[in-house]
Amino acid sequence: VTGQRRVRRPPRWVVTALAAAIVVQFTAGVVGTAYLAAGERLAASAPDNTLGRPAPRIAGDVAITPVRERARRATAIRSLLARRSEALLHRDRTGFLAGIDAESPDFRARQGRLFDNLREVPLGKWSYLVDPDHEMSQSGGRLSRFHAPVWAPQVDVIYRLAGFDRRDTSQRQYFTFVQRGARWYIGADDDFANSGGQTARGLWDFGPVVVARTATTLVLGHPGSRDTLRTITQVAAAAIPRVSAVWGHDWAGKVVILVPDSQAELSRVIQAGELSQIAAVATAELAGGTGLPAGERIIINPPNFAKLGSLGRQVVLRHEITHVATRAVTTDATPTWLAEGFADYIGYLGTGVPVGAAGHELAVDIRAGRVPKALPTNADFGGNNSRLAQVYEMSWLACRMIAAAVGPDGLVRFYRAVGGGPGTSGSGVEDALRTRLGLSMAQFTVRWRAYLSNQLA
Ligand SMILES: [Zn+2]
Repeated sequence: VTGQRRVRRPPRWVVTALAAAIVVQFTAGVVGTAYLAAGERLAASAPDNTLGRPAPRIAGDVAITPVRERARRATAIRSLLARRSEALLHRDRTGFLAGIDAESPDFRARQGRLFDNLREVPLGKWSYLVDPDHEMSQSGGRLSRFHAPVWAPQVDVIYRLAGFDRRDTSQRQYFTFVQRGARWYIGADDDFANSGGQTARGLWDFGPVVVARTATTLVLGHPGSRDTLRTITQVAAAAIPRVSAVWGHDWAGKVVILVPDSQAELSRVIQAGELSQIAAVATAELAGGTGLPAGERIIINPPNFAKLGSLGRQVVLRHEITHVATRAVTTDATPTWLAEGFADYIGYLGTGVPVGAAGHELAVDIRAGRVPKALPTNADFGGNNSRLAQVYEMSWLACRMIAAAVGPDGLVRFYRAVGGGPGTSGSGVEDALRTRLGLSMAQFTVRWRAYLSNQLA
């Protein structure tokens, strides 16, 4: 359950201007920290620990489409994509496929399936943003197969799930546009996949999408997992008020959960590896400029989620929903131990799970005389840390200790003070410890070590 930021793979744009970077923020739920029914416990792991940074801007060394030609093409492409969006929103399959290159039959067939797969998805908005000042290099030999003029400007699909997304979700598309006669068509969306330009994929790229929902929970998955969707809908809908009871109500109070059919599908959708022992992931986009989160999603890792008992599912979903609720005030100033410890604090709160069970791995260490010397660093949450379960347990108990001292509300105020949020910078942990708890970092660490021994020895 690490707080991390990732970015789309570095694209090889030919750059003539700068655009706002969109950073994708990830937090994952590690199975190992979740209490599993029937004494079952999985080894812990974490997602890949790629650190976030803005997409690199690489000046190209190839000729850029001349300005006037670029403007002419951009007008044609925007019109093409507007017709595509209209057709999708109005369920006009013929109109949708009219924008696809007739001489690219495989791509056309995939686009037909994509259209069908989206049928049940409640789209409140679907449009495209074209930036003609960024274009992919067209010097590769692969594009010569079209035997026609091609162009690959930067395109984002902008969409909202009706009733759930309060802000636009933006997903990078790497379309190849091809000119046939006077008209432009979409000829492919994967020509740049091996050169840093992987088109973002949704569940709808992998098969038909079906929906389960309550007023507060929207769960998307595939037809083979309808029962799982219903279960997750119920557990998540029950978890939301539990999260709000501690955190407060200044968040959407709604969640969107995606249930892929496989770990491979999950891995492709979030463009991350190292998921073999992850139960679920929470992602969001942080739009450049505002820093406000958008497109918040919880994504289930099916094989691991299936291993969880009923209590484990509750803990994991409360944990992930906590990441969604706290997203706007979880910033660079928030250490991972606080983000993950707080999510586990709400995850376990009131479940009746004994401290010794939730902190099992750490208890074994402490009884063997291995009391941790310091709070976990962000790097300690890497997937290759063999003592990852202990790292989460240490984090959880740090938050539990703060709540014991200043109450759950005090823990919430502490969390907010550390991270800050859009337009306000957080004070960081050391300041917040001093002002909220009257402790230096060293004093806090001494108390925390004693607390660990006291709770787990
Ligand atoms: Zn987490």
